[in-house]
Amino acid sequence: EDSHKYTGIVEDCCCDYETVDSVNEAVLYPLLQDLVTTPFFRYFKVKLWCDCPFWPDDGMCRLRDCSVCECPEHEFPEAFKRPSLHGLAKDDLICQEGKPEAAVDRTLDTKVFRGWPEVDNPWTNDDETDNNEMTYVNLQLNPERYTGYTGPSARRIWDAVYSENCPKYSSGESCQEKKVLYKLISGLHSSISIHIAADYLLDETTNQWGANLELMHDRVLKHPERVQNLYFTFLFVLRAVTKAASYLEQAEYDSGNHVEDLKAHSLIRQLIHNPKLQAACPLPFDEAKLWQGQSGPELKQQIQKQFRNISALMDCVGCEKCRLWGKLQVLGLGTALKILFSVDTPGRRHLQLQRNEVIALMNLLNRLSESLKSVTDMGSSAAMDVLLS
Ligand code: FAD
Repeated sequence: EDSHKYTGIVEDCCCDYETVDSVNEAVLYPLLQDLVTTPFFRYFKVKLWCDCPFWPDDGMCRLRDCSVCECPEHEFPEAFKRPSLHGLAKDDLICQEGKPEAAVDRTLDTKVFRGWPEVDNPWTNDDETDNNEMTYVNLQLNPERYTGYTGPSARRIWDAVYSENCPKYSSGESCQEKKVLYKLISGLHSSISIHIAADYLLDETTNQWGANLELMHDRVLKHPERVQNLYFTFLFVLRAVTKAASYLEQAEYDSGNHVEDLKAHSLIRQLIHNPKLQAACPLPFDEAKLWQGQSGPELKQQIQKQFRNISALMDCVGCEKCRLWGKLQVLGLGTALKILFSVDTPGRRHLQLQRNEVIALMNLLNRLSESLKSVTDMGSSAAMDVLLS
């Protein structure tokens, strides 16, 4: 039996694997691929240089750009000269950031950005209304893929994310909400690993990029739970998008390029009012089931705080491009959490989203949709059959 084929309902969701795959393939993937190339959705505002609040002395956040690596030794910040930085070798810090594939290309059309409401998101650490030190990045020029960021620095972030913020629920865990947080993070982690595997630097000397099936197998496919969590995260984010439908429909997608902006709006409409999607999977996730217990409000506060910590951890990611996508996707998840859990409760304001939150949300959904497609495409290849057998 091939263990990479999934059947039945995605755990804690409302649609089954086959339906999700077919709706993704036929509807969501093509629409999203188009959407993220439009000027409105391809420019992301981000604070790439912030202080890492957790490991303040290790120089991680002083890696302001790649030129750090090219400086002569005597110009290195003091922190780099120390042989060991809390167990991290000097080379770990310097050389990841020096790799060209880890750097962010900031080439962009500055005319494209115009204002939207300025509202902070309670689920994230960055203040979205704070424009200090924000830069704009063209996401199309910076695909999420293999960057060479690995070793103790990367490991430390994932460890902190899991162990401090969302310990893996035991099988007897009765708290559904904590389980949701863990699954969202694990699903995002799977997606990141899949992108690394799908677009890998196979040969450094010839600069040949391509799929690394073995990596895909080892990090994701051989752990069914990680694949399941990817589907869960996808459905969760999809539910947030459909719940925000009326807001997204009325929003102004204004980048100064009228034709392209109309296209963005039309793609959004096709996505949120899609008859095929509504017929196949009308309620991808049922958020009304959460926070119902007596300690609901308290629990929500606690989980919100944990998610904010995860968001803050993204400032400690020691590779610029990984930090960019880490921040974007965590903001995307934070936006989904805000849509599903922070509005429509009595006494709360109506949904208001920042431009940047909408961009993060749709780009995250696109990344997850790509990951699903990679799982079905690469997971069913003949080479993968050999690895899995
Ligand atoms: P890791 O992926 O580091 O995993 C660490 C441990 O977490 C594993 O040993 C396992 O116990 C557990 N784990 C792994 N996957 C899951 C899962 N899905 N669910 C639950 N637990 C899991 N590298 C790039 O090349 N390009 C990038 O764009 C990139 N972006 C990153 C963004 C962030 C926010 C972070 C923290 C790291 C990023 N990295 C990126 C690094 C990359 O994620 C890995 O850390 C690195 O490739 C080393 O992988 P690893 O095999 O040690 O396992």
